[in-house]
Amino acid sequence: MRAREMLKDKIKLLCDALNNLADEPLTFMEVCGTHTVAIYRSGLRSLLPKNVSLVSGPGCPVCVTDQGEVDAAIQLANKGDLIFATYGDMLRVPGTKGSLQDLRARGADVRVVKSCDEALNLALKNPTKEVAFLGVGFETTAPSTAAVILEAAEREVENFSVLCFHKLVPPALRLLAGSKELKVDGFILPGHVSVVLGVAPYMFLPRDFKVACAIAGFEALDIMEGIVELARQVRYKDFKVSLLYARAVKPEGNPLAQKLVRRVFDEADARWRGLGEIKKSGLRLKAEFSRFDAAAKFDLRIEEVPLPSGCKCGDVLMGKITPQQCPLFAKRCNPDDPVGPCMVSSEGSCAACYKYSHKV
Ligand code: SF4
Repeated sequence: MRAREMLKDKIKLLCDALNNLADEPLTFMEVCGTHTVAIYRSGLRSLLPKNVSLVSGPGCPVCVTDQGEVDAAIQLANKGDLIFATYGDMLRVPGTKGSLQDLRARGADVRVVKSCDEALNLALKNPTKEVAFLGVGFETTAPSTAAVILEAAEREVENFSVLCFHKLVPPALRLLAGSKELKVDGFILPGHVSVVLGVAPYMFLPRDFKVACAIAGFEALDIMEGIVELARQVRYKDFKVSLLYARAVKPEGNPLAQKLVRRVFDEADARWRGLGEIKKSGLRLKAEFSRFDAAAKFDLRIEEVPLPSGCKCGDVLMGKITPQQCPLFAKRCNPDDPVGPCMVSSEGSCAACYKYSHKV
C-alpha cells in the first residue's frame, strides 16, 4: 500500500513538472508496442496536461508486416509437405485470403514456435521435410535469427530456411521525423530495440530534425519520466538522446548481437504496412547464406497488395489517427474478427485500445 502511495506521489510530481515545462502544444510518439500497451493499461494519457498528446508509432513488429508479406507467408505455408513455423502473434493476422490459422484448420502443417531455434530443431527432427520459419521482428529478434542461420550453416542443415521480413527501426523513425503531415516533437524510443542498438543509431534525430528523444523503460513511472524529459528538451531546445533506461540499455547497446546481424544480413529496402517502402529498413540474407532464404528457395514473389478495404492501419501506425478514428474500429474490426494486424497483435495499438479503453 505504501509503495502504491509513493508511486502516486512520484507520478504527481512528474505531472506537475510536465505542467510547468509544456508551455506550448506538444505531441510525443511512443514508438514501441510494449510502451503503447503500458500507456493504455496505466491510463497515463488521462494524467497528461491538455496541451500534451501521445500518439502511437510503428513499433509493433507484427503490425508493420506488409500485407504482401503476410500473403507470401500464407502462400508458402500452403505449399504442402512443408512445416511452416511462426511466432504465435502472426497466426491470426489476416492475409488477403484468410490467415495462417485458417490454413492450419484446413490441414496445413503450421506450427507455433517461441524462437527461431525451435524451428531449426523441427528441421533437425524431421530431416525428410522442409521447415520454413517466418522471421519477423525488429533489431530485437534479428540477432537470434542470425545466430540460428549460422548454426544451420555450420551443421549443413539442408531442409531449413527463413522467410525473412525483419525490419529496422531507425529508418522508419527518419521517415516519421521527416514527414510533412506529422508534427512529432519527441520520440519515446523503444526500450527493447535500444538494448541491442544503444544510443548512437538515433543521434540523427536530434541532430538533423531537432526532435527530442528519450529511451525509457516500460513502467508508468518510466514513461512519465520520459515524457517530462522530452518536454524539457523542447522547452530548452536541448535536443539529444537521453538514456533513462540505463538499468537495461547500455550506451553502446549489445555489440555481440549487432555483430551477428552484420555477419548474416545485408540491409535492404523493405515495405512496411501502410508506410510503404522505406530505404534500407529491412534485412536480407547475405549471398553466402542465400540457401536459407525461403523466398528464393521456393521461388516466392512478394507482391504489393493493398490493405483490406477501410483498414486504416497505416494511419494508426504513423500516429496520424487514433484507433477509434478508424471507421472499422470495434465494428467490423474487433479482437474476435480482426481486419488488420493492429487488432491482432498483443502489442497492437488497436488491440490495446480495444482492451483498455473501449466500453462495450
Ligand atoms: Fe486496421 Fe482494425 Fe485498427 Fe482499423 S481498427 S486500423 S481495421 S486493425
